[in-house]
Amino acid sequence: MSRTRLADDTIIALATPQGVSGLAVIRLSGKDSIDITDKVFAGKRLIDQPTHSVHFGTIGEQNKIIDEVLVTVFKEPNSFTKENSAEISCHGSPVIIRQIIKLFLKNGARLAEPGEFTKRAFMNGRFDLAQAEAVADLIHAENDNARQAALNQMRGGFSNEITHLREELIHFASLIELELDFGEEDVEFAKRDDLLLLVGKVQSYLTRLIASFDQGNVIKNGIPTVIAGKPNAGKSTLLNALLNEEKAIVSEIPGTTRDVIEDEITLGGVTFRFMDTAGLRETQDVIEALGVSRTHERMKIAALILYLFDLSNTTIEEIAIEEARLKAIGRPYIKVGNKVDKASKQLLSAINDQDFVLISASSKTNLETLKKEILSKVNIQEVKQGDVLVTNLRHYQKLTETNEALERVVTGLNSGITGDFLAMDIRQALHFLGEITGTITSDDLLENIFANFCIGK
Ligand code: GDP
Repeated sequence: MSRTRLADDTIIALATPQGVSGLAVIRLSGKDSIDITDKVFAGKRLIDQPTHSVHFGTIGEQNKIIDEVLVTVFKEPNSFTKENSAEISCHGSPVIIRQIIKLFLKNGARLAEPGEFTKRAFMNGRFDLAQAEAVADLIHAENDNARQAALNQMRGGFSNEITHLREELIHFASLIELELDFGEEDVEFAKRDDLLLLVGKVQSYLTRLIASFDQGNVIKNGIPTVIAGKPNAGKSTLLNALLNEEKAIVSEIPGTTRDVIEDEITLGGVTFRFMDTAGLRETQDVIEALGVSRTHERMKIAALILYLFDLSNTTIEEIAIEEARLKAIGRPYIKVGNKVDKASKQLLSAINDQDFVLISASSKTNLETLKKEILSKVNIQEVKQGDVLVTNLRHYQKLTETNEALERVVTGLNSGITGDFLAMDIRQALHFLGEITGTITSDDLLENIFANFCIGK
């Protein structure tokens, strides 16, 4: 692979979370990482040990031992970064971690940038860019489906198939370019029919991948869900009850939940991204009005609306009016009858034949039924080992761009355009495909991608 190599200095970072913990892992990578570790480690000489071996000893300098540790040695190319690496398991005290890292800095290591370990793994050809990005997705996966989708992508996913199809396309582009070299002579190295077949094959693969993004996006980012209803219907109370913590403002004063608060819950492996709202009340209040129009906007893009009716303070007629408005938005919704504890028997019997989930948000009554109803409204299939799913917006965009370029190839082939134009369209498709796997990259793109990683990964 023609990636420019990074500087091979030795980088160090804490790979486990900051704070007090039982153990912490400090990670080093770079040509000299094992030598540098040998300078501060008292125990066996690590550089003489085989790869993937673990050694007990102490870390410190002169007469000062900082901690007793285990060091795992990785010899290039058998490590995550394909460089010499060491992992130090020490006790999880911030003081120890700080002192050990400082000692390594003194001895020639430097602090790693966010994502630098993964960036080195990519640069050294350990995996392609799409797989490197999946590493970040794996770490940040918030539910089991997202974890499985990221793991599948990290372990290969669509990368191999795309690389393979790209090579086939390159072959055709070269043949066509060869024809161009022959100028006026009437030669045809690249059989147009075969090219059309290949492009069809690539397109059908891409179309499947592109279509998987609908599900992939929801799995990764959660299902956009809106809790709506009149002021005081109990929206904040319900959100809190669902999140099980006091994240939203609960107040006796109508319309105090002014801003939209986003939060997530995971039910049965599916993440729902809740957007709390300011209610649907018509109002003169400027801030409130902003909130209200935003609620409408949010409802229009929601995959699911939980609409709360305040059963302690409404009538069957009002309910009908509200539901008509709700229906007009045209999104899936659940009718939640809240404050069932204070509802009149009369109202309860009047709505008896309607599709209500009756709850009391404040006393958390019947929330399980509501959760089941929420889950039943979405159709998320379980992601299995080996399923290939596009969850990354950048990949989705590049796949779409590739497909569009290939569409131009097909149009060109059907209308018999000249080889130079044909080659140009194929080259463009190749460019977009290359951007997915990272065969074609720019510093900006890489910086952008790896800056989103955490330090130590
Ligand atoms: P929002 O404006 O829709 O967000 O409503 P809030 O969540 O702020 O609730 C308004 C008031 O209704 C608060 O005083 C809550 O304690 C109260 N409330 C919420 N749910 C229930 C319930 O199930 N039963 C009763 N009795 N009161 C509730």
